[in-house]
Amino acid sequence: MPFDAYDRPIQYLRVSVTDRCNLRCVYCMPEEGVPKLSHQDILRNEEIVRIVRIAVEMGFVHIRLTGGEPLVRAGIVDMVSELARIPGLDDLSMTTNGLLLRRYAEPLARAGLRRINLSLDTLRPERFRQMTRWGNLEDVLAGRETALAAGLWPVKVNMVVIRGLNDDEVVDMARLTLQPEWHVRFIEVMPLGAGAHWSGDGVVPSAEIRARIEEALGPLTPVYNEVGIGPARYYRLPDAAGTLGFISAITEHFCRGCNRLRLTADGRLLLCLLSGASVDLRTPLRQGATDDELRDLFLQAVLIKPRGHTLEEGIPATLPMSHIGG
Ligand code: SAM
Ligand code: SF4
Repeated sequence: MPFDAYDRPIQYLRVSVTDRCNLRCVYCMPEEGVPKLSHQDILRNEEIVRIVRIAVEMGFVHIRLTGGEPLVRAGIVDMVSELARIPGLDDLSMTTNGLLLRRYAEPLARAGLRRINLSLDTLRPERFRQMTRWGNLEDVLAGRETALAAGLWPVKVNMVVIRGLNDDEVVDMARLTLQPEWHVRFIEVMPLGAGAHWSGDGVVPSAEIRARIEEALGPLTPVYNEVGIGPARYYRLPDAAGTLGFISAITEHFCRGCNRLRLTADGRLLLCLLSGASVDLRTPLRQGATDDELRDLFLQAVLIKPRGHTLEEGIPATLPMSHIGG
């Protein structure tokens, strides 16, 4: 497995398979959407599969498909099926808004997808429509059930918490983990894309969310053996079946444990969510680069991965979240 210049093992690749989305979450995109990549620009299935195969041969062990909304990409089930056949790739997962899960969960599970993270920021139908602009909460909840029934496990729910918008629901969301198969993670809103609107006062620090949950539902016990490869810190409520996770990009730096690169839908390796720096793979790939040459570019990206983000110095000029893949 490759190590970066700061001795961090880099073993997790998030792959944005499309910049398109069937929602317009207020913290991610403006209602009119963001400028679209052309079809020419977007990596084809076989290009994604080749890049992932090279990554797995280098020692990447976790691959997550994201977007935009990965389920709106044509041929997503075929892509999953080809990826799942790559020798050595045991952990293939997806982050989705869940709107299309009722249709796709079973075919995806059969194709070899292991688990999903589901974005769900509210349990109130009207608020759901307000926060996503177009969505229907019922579709997501039913999609979650279908995913579990299809054997996608675990299903982790991601809630982006924004003060004044949905922070009054953190206790209700935490309470869900008292039921079987509910795992909920609270994410501090990041000042990227439309999220910049809520930088500063909009951010509800994880410590505050934890305190509110403990006050209402009892003490949280740290969970050390939770299956997790990302920056979340996990806890459990008394007698709870499920876990609570906290992802605190703003108030609790996690760069020291960062283990990931991101592949954008147009074929660039992004070194950090909060920095624009990237290494282009698509151009050499389309000009006939060999596997060895592509591997060298990967290694170069790993080696120039920055030590950490510089949010304190101001909001960086990055791509929209829907291009980066969250
Ligand atoms: N469409 C899929 C979904 O929503 O799950 C996958 C792509 S989305 C960009 C990936 C993740 O990024 C989601 O969990 C979303 O909530 C999160 N996200 C988007 N904008 C964000 C922001 N400004 N701050 C924090 N998380 C954000
Ligand atoms: Fe689409 Fe996901 Fe962004 Fe929401 S967070 S607009 S579902 S890409």
